[in-house]
Amino acid sequence: MTSACTYCSQNVAEHDPVFVEELEAGNRVEAGQFCNYACLTSYIEENHLTTGAACAWTPSSAN
Ligand SMILES: [Zn+2]
Repeated sequence: MTSACTYCSQNVAEHDPVFVEELEAGNRVEAGQFCNYACLTSYIEENHLTTGAACAWTPSSAN
């Protein structure tokens, strides 16, 4: 298994790594690994992974 960050390709072991898994057919599968939450959140934003994905989102104010 590679140790390259899913976002920036640096070695996650040299930072403060965060690992993401997804559920596929009842099994946890690797979805990515990141140097830290900064790489994770950048990856999420650039790929729009949270668009329409809130589990219990209630708007507190209209934008
Ligand atoms: Zn990274």
